[in-house]
Amino acid sequence: MKDYDVIIVGAGPAGLMASVVAGGAGLRVLLVERKKDVPKVTRSCCSMWIVEPMTHGECISVGHSRVVFRLNDFCVEDKGERIPLRQNVKFSPGGKKLIFANECDPVAIAFDKEELLRGLLGQAEALGVKIVAGTNCVDVIDEDDGVSVKLNDPDGETIERGSYLIIADGVNSHLGNRLGINKDRAVFGTMQVLSYFFEQVECPYPDAFLSFVGTGHLGGGLGSIYIMPKPGMIEGKEHVYEVMIGSPAEDATSLSDKMEYFTEQGSFAEWFKGARHIHTNSAVLEFRTPLTTPAQGRTLVAGDAAAFIETYVQGALIYGRSAAQAVVGRIQEGSDFSGYVDHWKTTFGYNQPGEIEKATNAYGINLFSDSELDYFFSFTDNEKHKGYTNEFNDYERIKKAMYRHMDTIRKEKPELAERLEGYLNFEVSSIEESLQLTDTKDSK
Ligand SMILES: Cc1cc2nc3c(=O)[nH]c(=O)nc-3n(C[C@H](O)[C@H](O)[C@H](O)COP(=O)(O)OP(=O)(O)OC[C@H]3O[C@@H](n4cnc5c(N)ncnc54)[C@H](O)[C@@H]3O)c2cc1C
Repeated sequence: MKDYDVIIVGAGPAGLMASVVAGGAGLRVLLVERKKDVPKVTRSCCSMWIVEPMTHGECISVGHSRVVFRLNDFCVEDKGERIPLRQNVKFSPGGKKLIFANECDPVAIAFDKEELLRGLLGQAEALGVKIVAGTNCVDVIDEDDGVSVKLNDPDGETIERGSYLIIADGVNSHLGNRLGINKDRAVFGTMQVLSYFFEQVECPYPDAFLSFVGTGHLGGGLGSIYIMPKPGMIEGKEHVYEVMIGSPAEDATSLSDKMEYFTEQGSFAEWFKGARHIHTNSAVLEFRTPLTTPAQGRTLVAGDAAAFIETYVQGALIYGRSAAQAVVGRIQEGSDFSGYVDHWKTTFGYNQPGEIEKATNAYGINLFSDSELDYFFSFTDNEKHKGYTNEFNDYERIKKAMYRHMDTIRKEKPELAERLEGYLNFEVSSIEESLQLTDTKDSK
């Protein structure tokens, strides 16, 4: 008999959720995590609940101290502080705006990811899950009669054995590579991310998700900048803001130079005059096509480890739960893993036709010069459009907002209009219903 029914590698949202479900079903579970302090968030993450309905086939409700996954029929405790974000504001290099907002719904809800992970960790501990933190899993072996993991901690190397394995080691999943499960995934490139946390920022948008498009914000380098308030960072004082820069790894200008330019010389440097930089996070992400079948032998892959870009925290919870349910079903009822595989295939956003193409082409916005972006955004500067914050629909929304002004652009700048039309090559039949909550120009 093996020591564990299931070994789970990675204690992010996917691995922790899988541990809670497997532990709750009475399985003997080993959870391995590289970080010493499991809930500590050391990697850049905007940490927003994405509340747009049908994200990954789910409509979440963010309640007082829990988040309800209505269609998957489960909930998680989330007792941390939250900040509902009322607007999604995009700025051109010259500071012109494009604003998305809803009448009632926030565009997203910033939450305290550490508090969420702490809650899940407490539940896993209470259920008797054996947790080894500060331990790196360096190899995994999937055999006919079980799985083995090779673990490295400061005291040396050990081997643990189990009946099943769930790999939840995040977006760059090295363990998936070890098993050869990633060999057919196409690689699109590598993105690097740098986040600085600041206090005492004079930000006029305390409850918004802000993004800055165009090279002018970055002193000429490639990439995008995002700013959002961080709940749970300090008690009783003003917000802490995370300023995050993401850019292709091959860009010659360093992320720290871009950050310095944005906060010290860019159009928004004024906000940072009295600000104090208190913390830094970072991330490196390899963009790969998602796994088509996140199961092989006795191993399941869950969360970002199986995904293109990311599953979001909510997706990691959904698929971590689903993977653990599949292992429980196999052990207790002899079922196969097809339910998990089907769930992944039919609900994960980037498994749906055209979504990866849309995401990769979305960066077409970078085909326009800074002055062209200023020109486009001058049309929307005083408008508000309906919409959430969600990478699946953000660029479609920008396109729709631009499309509305095509007639004027055609008259004023025919060459630019032609290029813009190439970029706007999408179905616009439902355009009117998604447009214009209010026109702030008229209400001034
Ligand atoms: C810049 C950025 C912004 C984001 N913004 C949002 C957002 O606003 N909202 C949202 O919902 N999501 C956001 N995400 C995505 C979100 O962070 C992930 O989708 C989510 O954390 C995935 O959970 P996971 O458990 O699959 O992986 P992870 O959270 O990456 O967890 C993987 C865990 O495995 C551990 N690990 C890795 N390798 C090993 C090993 N060999 N041995 C032991 N342990 C190992 C890691 O230390 C880590 O704890 C963002 C991501 C990025 C990069």
